[in-house]
Amino acid sequence: MPITVLEHPLAADLLSILRDRETEPPEFRQIAERLGYLLVAEALSDMPVDVVEIDTPLERTTGTQLHRPVVAVAVLRAGLGLLHSVLTLVPDAAIGFAGVQRNEETAEPMEYYTKFPQLDSARVLILEPMLATGGSLSWAIEKVKENGARDIVAVCVVVAPQGLEVIEANHPEVRIVAAALDRELNPSFYIAPGLGDMGDRLFGTL
Ligand code: URA
Repeated sequence: MPITVLEHPLAADLLSILRDRETEPPEFRQIAERLGYLLVAEALSDMPVDVVEIDTPLERTTGTQLHRPVVAVAVLRAGLGLLHSVLTLVPDAAIGFAGVQRNEETAEPMEYYTKFPQLDSARVLILEPMLATGGSLSWAIEKVKENGARDIVAVCVVVAPQGLEVIEANHPEVRIVAAALDRELNPSFYIAPGLGDMGDRLFGTL
């Protein structure tokens, strides 16, 4: 499944603010949430819909509603930065959490917490803003598949080519929606040019 990189001046504007090292956590969180609206809208752009009859103040007409439930799985911590975007656009979305920590020496994912709602008939949005090595996202995709997920979209802010290759090889059916496909992963496993550590930028940690 190919990656969809948002081609929208508003997305580019918001991403530039996130990339700027001077952007402090309060603004960073707001901008991440606003960019999240565009990413989530794209991640749901191919959702099946049901036709429903509705009465406008003037007459009866037809409308549509989303056919299946939406679940968001936030990969901790950075995925929390996109969670409000999902809940604002789809207030009845159920939320799961995938706690995974990167081993700073090997960059391998280490699980510390998972909790998922019913996944089997849902569109599952995995919120993984920084797709770097692909290790955490691969792990999260495997976890949600083990728990019944069949329709999975990864919602990312910035993607590194290496991480993209890993997901395309291991989970070719998973669509990735992102705001940018960056140049490379540097020797410390940070995406370059990137935006730094998304969790630290969101929550003011070092
Ligand atoms: N995680 C981040 O938060 N930033 C990176 O550049 C890579 C992984």
